[in-house]
Amino acid sequence: NTEDVKILLLENVNQTGRDILTGQGYQVEFLKTSLPEDQLIEKIRDVHVIGIRSKTKLTAKVLQEAKNLLVIGCFCIGTNQVDLDYAAKHGIAVFNSPFANSRSVAELVIGEIISLARQLGDRSLEMHRGTWNKVSSKCWEIRGKTLGIVGYGHIGSQLSVLAEAMGMTVIYYDVLTLMAIGTSRQVPTLEELLEEADFVTLHVPETPETKNMISTKEFERMKKGSYLINASRGTVVDIPALIRAMRAGRIAGAALDVYPNEPAANGDYFVNELNSWAEDLRGLSNIILTPHIGGSTEEAQRAIGVEVAEALVRYINQGITLGSVNLPEVTMRSLTINEPKSARVIYIHRNVPGVLRKVNEILAGHNVDKQTSDSKGDVAYLMADVSGVEPEDIKDIRDSLDSLSSRILTRVLY
Ligand code: NAD
Repeated sequence: NTEDVKILLLENVNQTGRDILTGQGYQVEFLKTSLPEDQLIEKIRDVHVIGIRSKTKLTAKVLQEAKNLLVIGCFCIGTNQVDLDYAAKHGIAVFNSPFANSRSVAELVIGEIISLARQLGDRSLEMHRGTWNKVSSKCWEIRGKTLGIVGYGHIGSQLSVLAEAMGMTVIYYDVLTLMAIGTSRQVPTLEELLEEADFVTLHVPETPETKNMISTKEFERMKKGSYLINASRGTVVDIPALIRAMRAGRIAGAALDVYPNEPAANGDYFVNELNSWAEDLRGLSNIILTPHIGGSTEEAQRAIGVEVAEALVRYINQGITLGSVNLPEVTMRSLTINEPKSARVIYIHRNVPGVLRKVNEILAGHNVDKQTSDSKGDVAYLMADVSGVEPEDIKDIRDSLDSLSSRILTRVLY
């Protein structure tokens, strides 16, 4: 029953998310802050669902107390505050919101392209200091210029549309062959992109392959007087190499939103203690430095609330794991889930040989309408819709599945 589902929301989760969960009839407790570990352990024992943002650390120590916990909603992008592996091995699904802020990042980059082309940051700083400095030399329109997008995913492709609308020519490089949007064009190598683009903007994930993806060699390939924008991850650009390229006049401007070691909290200084080059970077002209605000808008926060809450509802009510970061992604359209005498059986189990045979022996005496399963590493997820079952059949199925040695968690929804 939905009213038996207990949810704890910490860290001032957005109203949009709260409304969706209370609208389902769940019992929702809402707190504005995170909790110290001892209080968190006390509260987590009781709940089926917990919603957090980045400050609540769900370590193995905390999660082992969470005996009723089915699912964790991270109302943010990152999930490294959660022990994902421990959660998976105990059948606890984890969801986040990877794409709710794509548009916000794309819009920031558009703003930066014009700001760099017109040296807006420098002119504004000078005026703040009381200096009138009217210049047109090396200030440009962006119309007709080429934008090179590295990584044509959610953000890169959105940016492509916006840039073309302003009259830019768009080229992109990606490890995958992707359909071009509008009149943009995929180029086969990063080198080709660097040689052609007036503006290079990075939208790749943080991986071993993208570490220092833009370094001395790449800056040498870039056009003289071109610009670099990085709102992806701080590891992607070799910053000392950028400083050299800007001092040498090869790169005419840059915008950085992300850094290798980011300060932990607002108000912390951006100084050499964290990164030995911080002060050199701050001393450059025509460089826009922002504190990882690419996705920081009211709209993105609302979208995160909706995206994560909807994923939680789908998981609680239907067992669908689409978008889960730690369990195999399994979905199945149900024809019978709310029908009398029907049930959805979910069996989360260790991924070992012979399980499906045993599960099918248990289900064999019933009418299985649909069934699907998938695995991810050590954990597998099976979903089956059965019909024509009485309450005692459901109890039998659950007890039999619970007795299998491969079992992590059995859920029966009816
Ligand atoms: P995405 O997964 O939708 O797209 C990434 C694209 O990069 C994919 O098309 C992928 O194929 C491609 N790619 C992966 N490795 C590559 C490589 N080595 N070379 C070329 N292409 C490669 O991701 P997204 O949502 O568009 O996000 C892009 C980046 O932006 C991520 O690093 C993300 O963490 C970051 N981000 C930053 C902010 C911010 O506040 N600044 C906000 C959201 C996302």
